[in-house]
Amino acid sequence: MTIDMQKVEQSLREKICPSCARFTTQHTCSLPADRPCSLFANLDSVVDIVRDTHSTRIDTYVDVLRHEVCSACHFEDDHGSCPKRDDMDCALNTYYPLIVETIEAELGRQSREQAKLNRSKPQ
Ligand code: SF4
Ligand code: SF4
Repeated sequence: MTIDMQKVEQSLREKICPSCARFTTQHTCSLPADRPCSLFANLDSVVDIVRDTHSTRIDTYVDVLRHEVCSACHFEDDHGSCPKRDDMDCALNTYYPLIVETIEAELGRQSREQAKLNRSKPQ
């Protein structure tokens, strides 16, 4: 299935940003210009993780996130610790369960839409 990443991003911006500690009353993000949001900077990888991981346990998704994203993030040190994670200042980590849920729901919606389209095509 081809994933419409724009729609995935849009649903995350609607669901996650308003809950985020970095969201301002002016509906902007308070992260400094030189610090991209960890969620949107790694969106392709995060969507791959959600698409390819099948578990009822969020810990399984967290393990893959640590392996695929955190290990390459400049905030994580050689011991696997991250000050941003500890300070709850990484949106990707802090809101990860809701992020996984939102992406799963959006991918499910896109998949149903695609199936409907395929059924309506002349044979
Ligand atoms: S840090 Fe990320 S999730 Fe939070 S408000 Fe900014 S863009 Fe949205
Ligand atoms: S938890 Fe830390 S290492 Fe992982 S993505 Fe966030 S800032 Fe980077």
